[in-house]
Amino acid sequence: MLLSILVPCFNEEENIRPFYEQARLAVRTLRKENVVSDYEFLFINDGSKDGTLARIKELAQEDARVFYLSFTRNFGKEAAMLAGLAHCRGEYVTLMDVDLQDPPELLPEMFEILNSEEGLECVATRRVSRAGEPRLRSWFARMFYKLINRISDVEIVDGARDFRLMTRRVVDSILDLKEKSRFSKGLFVWAGYKTHYLAYENIERKRGKTKWSFWKLFKYSLDGITAFSVMPLQLAAVAGCLCSLGSILAMLYFVIQKLTVGIPIQGYAMLICSIFLLGGIQLLGLGILGQYIGKLFVESKQRPDYVVLESNIEE
Ligand code: UDP
Ligand code: MG
Repeated sequence: MLLSILVPCFNEEENIRPFYEQARLAVRTLRKENVVSDYEFLFINDGSKDGTLARIKELAQEDARVFYLSFTRNFGKEAAMLAGLAHCRGEYVTLMDVDLQDPPELLPEMFEILNSEEGLECVATRRVSRAGEPRLRSWFARMFYKLINRISDVEIVDGARDFRLMTRRVVDSILDLKEKSRFSKGLFVWAGYKTHYLAYENIERKRGKTKWSFWKLFKYSLDGITAFSVMPLQLAAVAGCLCSLGSILAMLYFVIQKLTVGIPIQGYAMLICSIFLLGGIQLLGLGILGQYIGKLFVESKQRPDYVVLESNIEE
């Protein structure tokens, strides 16, 4: 059983070798203990402007198990992960950051869990602390998980990382998803395979800086939400309903007041009610459009309608 280790890298020249040394120790143990028969590293250079590619090429010369892919420019971590999944050959595949925030020493434990439970196809990781991260960033991250879990039908664990060990089946299902704007944490949940989450304490990046600016992260979180929920498109309909319902009730109230108590209807009150009513109807119209656009959006992703776990029908 071959293990593929996929490593997206963007301006990480000082991290390549330390990562390789540490990860190799972990996988050598795995090989000695016959958990895997062999391993390969696949580094994906995501348009680095420093010596990242040169470092990777050095490794590739020393070690025939090191492979690489290099992009023309920075396409983002999602693109790098996808390229890795599409080009690796392993029956087991793991995705890791090169900054050693995803500790390779966890791999043996991950394999143990994967092999211990019947039907388990994936061991993912989540960090239970966010030590060393700016407060505001942690707060936004927590809000993001709350929001996306409330308004979409995929359940994403708080603190979930991209670091995971999976079987070939999972990889193939992910590759069947052809959508362009990808949010992998959601896609893995969408694919639906039984997954165990291994919790660990956050490890701070040893060298270099994070490649995610606050703004980049914010845009990525919007990508995540809009990739898995059409609820924002439907909000207008809700607002529209509330608005027109409120104004109709207010109008009724004035008319009844006139009929029972005899207070004359004031012109401006009716005027404001009609403005709200019209505004509400327009919002409702937008919301209805949103419904259809949401449907188009979902269709345009062309996700498979289902993923089969098992069957006795022969292909
Ligand atoms: N990365 C990438 N392309 C990007 C941004 C990041 O390939 O556009 C890689 C980066 O080199 C690292 C991993 O993705 O291996 C995680 O990035 P980082 O450590 O900066 O993110 P953080 O851990 O701060 O969330
Ligand atoms: Mg990192």
